[in-house]
Amino acid sequence: MIPYKHEPFTDFSTEENNKAYLEALKKVEGYLGEEYPLIIGGERITTNDKIVSYNPANKEEVIGSVSKADKELAEKAMQVADETFNTWKKVKPEIRADVLFKAAAIIRRRKHEFSALLSKEAGKPWNEADADTAEAIDFLEYYGRQMLRLKDGQPVESRPGEFNRYDYIPLGVGVIISPWNFPFAIMAGTAVAAVVTGNTVLLKPASTTPVVAYKFVEILEEAGLPAGVVNYIPGSGAEVGDYLVDHPKTRFISFTGSRDVGLRIYERASKLNDGQIWLKRVIAEMGGKDTIVVDKEADLELAAQSIVKSAFGFSGQKCSACSRAVIVEDVYDEVLARVEELTKGLSVGDPTDVSNFTGPVIDAAAFKKITNYIEIGKGEGRIVAGGTADDSKGFFVNPTVIADVTPEARVMKEEIFGPVVAIAKAKDFDEALAIANNTEYGLTGAVITNNRMNQEKAREDFHVGNLYFNRGCTGAIVGYQPFGGFNMSGTDSKAGGPDYLQLHMQAKTTSETL
Ligand code: GLU
Repeated sequence: MIPYKHEPFTDFSTEENNKAYLEALKKVEGYLGEEYPLIIGGERITTNDKIVSYNPANKEEVIGSVSKADKELAEKAMQVADETFNTWKKVKPEIRADVLFKAAAIIRRRKHEFSALLSKEAGKPWNEADADTAEAIDFLEYYGRQMLRLKDGQPVESRPGEFNRYDYIPLGVGVIISPWNFPFAIMAGTAVAAVVTGNTVLLKPASTTPVVAYKFVEILEEAGLPAGVVNYIPGSGAEVGDYLVDHPKTRFISFTGSRDVGLRIYERASKLNDGQIWLKRVIAEMGGKDTIVVDKEADLELAAQSIVKSAFGFSGQKCSACSRAVIVEDVYDEVLARVEELTKGLSVGDPTDVSNFTGPVIDAAAFKKITNYIEIGKGEGRIVAGGTADDSKGFFVNPTVIADVTPEARVMKEEIFGPVVAIAKAKDFDEALAIANNTEYGLTGAVITNNRMNQEKAREDFHVGNLYFNRGCTGAIVGYQPFGGFNMSGTDSKAGGPDYLQLHMQAKTTSETL
């Protein structure tokens, strides 16, 4: 087996890659507007009620219409998944892993098609779409290999005359509720982590990005995944989501999304329902209010570049995005001036045009929420860049920098999930760290410093799941920077990490007297 190595990013400055993406875009444009059924036990089911997926950069353009599951269909999917669990759990881990490796190979061959679809359906610029596709491949390759490492359990001691074993067995049916911001990588990663460990899955993709999920399920079928292991059931959170979270046969829920929905799921999952004989497990990846701290002894150009890239890449719609920068007062004006200059140089527009740095935000609700926060920000600080938005064609919000805010400002505490960064001044490094920690979240953070002692202080005291030194705070790589946060950022689970698969299994001790 070739050792795991992350999928390289595509260099779009070469003629060849540029052409490959554009050809793939044509291919995707050829199937825009198609209809997609539900997939339950391999059976295609078409409903009258549809979820329509639009291009956020062009509200008129339909990416696809997807059949919408209701409670009855969700129940049907649950029965199929529950039944299929009896056979899938007996399939050898090696074979389960092979399905993932094969799926990775298929995606690699159709890489640019997936990326182009992500540009259309999620509004991702080329490089961000390419990273999302690469990460989907990484999850398949990484979790496949992790399963091979865990298939014989973990070593435990045995006394003379005794043989003890410690094995992992699957849990049962998992409900996967995946987000629109990494509609390929996180959707695929959370689904296959459950599948490779021997569980069966009800996949409810985000309603704004269901088409890429459908294409992925097709690939799993092509890779040899038996019918009924992954069931594709887009639907509304209030109807299908709640129904499945509450269902007595649901064994675990793997959710990525907002804090509020995460809390709702956590609470509902804790209730015992009729016929339920276990405590449901919840794996939740929630929000962030992520900070880049800039020390006075630091590479100030690197600081400004890191803030701008982490704040505005994919329009700030990452839970890892830099939504606050805290800069030590000695260098505040200089870093802020450079952040302003860099931000004003960013081009916003159709993400399928490679010259645009960033595209739209995901939908009308996001547009409204973000522009509302910009208004709040105007009262809490000084807008030095952006502050404007236009939803006439697509949902475009210009990258916005709000300077001179206090640590207690709403734009410093609440997750905005858009291209907005709040900037605060600290009198020294200790105060900067205290401001960075002044949040209920704890997902990512970065420290730009050349002071080794300050770096080590941050390593201990900056309370985030993913802390980066002298770089931006987005872009965790599967298997290299396992990703997940503390406090209101989720259940402290680390996607793409060495102990992620165990969250989908339970350990069984057997002890034989020899
Ligand atoms: N893993 C991504 C990163 O490191 C963020 C994932 C998310 O936004 O949910 O940037």
